[in-house]
Amino acid sequence: MILVGLTGGIGSGKSTVSSLLEDKGAVIIDADAIVREVQLPGSPVLAKLAEKFGAEVLASDGSLDRQAVANIVFTDPDALKVLNAIVHPAVGLEMNRRMIEQRTTNNVVILDIPLLTENPREGLQGKIVVDVPVEVQVERLTKFRGFDEADARARIGRQATREQRLETADFVLDNAGDLAALEPQIEKLWEWLKSLPQLPPDYEPVTPIPNAGPKTPDTKS
Ligand code: ADP
Repeated sequence: MILVGLTGGIGSGKSTVSSLLEDKGAVIIDADAIVREVQLPGSPVLAKLAEKFGAEVLASDGSLDRQAVANIVFTDPDALKVLNAIVHPAVGLEMNRRMIEQRTTNNVVILDIPLLTENPREGLQGKIVVDVPVEVQVERLTKFRGFDEADARARIGRQATREQRLETADFVLDNAGDLAALEPQIEKLWEWLKSLPQLPPDYEPVTPIPNAGPKTPDTKS
């Protein structure tokens, strides 16, 4: 297994990059999707969230009302800690399980983590950063993802800055241009990924640094 992280600010095109890499043959471990999965109805995580925050965090169909949770933790740092203490370990375990499942393969495994800069993780062979100016993020979020401008700017403002993200990058994708401009960069990225050494088959995933949790959960990313 070759194991790298992929990150980028909201609206930078991280999901777009992720699916282009998947087309190349990479295995994607998508942190956001795992967060949703561990909170599905019937899960121990959802039961604990309902116990701690009350039935108000449940939608009428019994699923988690992510917006209700976001509203609670937005103004209450202690509630955010409680949320993270319930959700993060379950997500971490599932991510580790998927890495262990891959460790005896020769696959390129991409950990797709929106807040990788905010929550650094050891044990990766590199970090890919999808880079765009803030104005491009705002434009794409408002044009394609239904955000209003103030909300887009507020969400961007709660994430790491472009500079902080770039400082941690081993490979930068410039996604300020169109998709045609992204594709040749994906080719180069894939060459780089394939050139990395295979990790040993007994590779042990390293759990991220605790208590550095996301500042706020993102209900729309
Ligand atoms: P993220 O996962 O980083 O939040 P997305 O991959 O969802 O971002 O991209 C945000 C929006 O911008 C999506 O609608 C996507 O289709 C679009 N997009 C991504 N990259 C480009 C690009 N190079 N040119 C035009 N639109 C793009």
